[in-house]
Amino acid sequence: MLHFALIGEKLGHSLSVPIHTAIHRALGVSADYRLIEIPAPQLITEFPPLAAKLDGFNVTIPYKRAVIPLLSRLDPTASAVGAVNTVRCRDAVGFNTDAAGFAAMLDAAGIDARQRNCFVLGTGGAALAVRYALTRLGAASVTFVSRRPDPRAIGYDELPERFSGLLINATPVGMFPNEADCPLDEGHWRSIAPRCEAVADVIYRPRETVLLRRAKAAGMPAANGLRMLVSQAAEAERIWLNRGVPQECLDKICEELDTCVPI
Ligand code: NAP
Repeated sequence: MLHFALIGEKLGHSLSVPIHTAIHRALGVSADYRLIEIPAPQLITEFPPLAAKLDGFNVTIPYKRAVIPLLSRLDPTASAVGAVNTVRCRDAVGFNTDAAGFAAMLDAAGIDARQRNCFVLGTGGAALAVRYALTRLGAASVTFVSRRPDPRAIGYDELPERFSGLLINATPVGMFPNEADCPLDEGHWRSIAPRCEAVADVIYRPRETVLLRRAKAAGMPAANGLRMLVSQAAEAERIWLNRGVPQECLDKICEELDTCVPI
């Protein structure tokens, strides 16, 4: 029996258990997957015993960067992204599968980033993975948008003037239980919508954020983060088990979750 887990500070609404359990069942692998909440100051002390008793684990907020100094090394993608969401315990190597998950999300929605200018809201771990994926996919440019503009990110007020291309939300704004929130106010959205080709939102709960609803109402392609979540999990399993997860299995998991995640 193999043992896997998700570690993070607050995991109450995670979908990781049903996703990984469904993957194990589909592959006929004897394994369990559980949620382990670790209060922030305890990561350093909790890490060695966890790594000793688990075969692998995923990492979420707020540990995607904090875990790096505790690992023996990073694979090239995690190193380029600067954040880790998957750890293989036998050699304490850190990986980032969010980037592959995001690429799969765009692909499933038919959103082509090649030669496009891309604007990514947020500058956290998800945004870093999104930027890496977009660059690999051949985006013409990737611009971060931040509440605190600095040389690597523009401010929200600069967006109306600068924007054209794809819009990606990589902030938690609009996520359950604050579904009424939107990272762009109505005025900002109206000013960029005519130059927006598609919107991708890494949030998966609710299925349709206010931002995605606005994009759909304007008739543009709009993708939520469910496919990213399922695909990053499958990529983590590939690393742990050295086995790929069939596409039909991922499609089925997405379908099942899509019907049970509240709109
Ligand atoms: P994070 O490290 O906390 O960063 C989020 C970024 O969003 C922050 O750096 C901040 O950027 C911005 N932000 C945070 N609160 C905000 C607010 N109230 N208003 C405007 N901007 C705000 O989180 P993360 O790990 O990047 O995750 C972000 C979201 O992605 C979460 O909802 C998470 O669930 C989701 N996610 C989904 C998947 C998936 O598989 N679908 C994978 C990973 C993450 P600035 O300070 O620069 O403005």
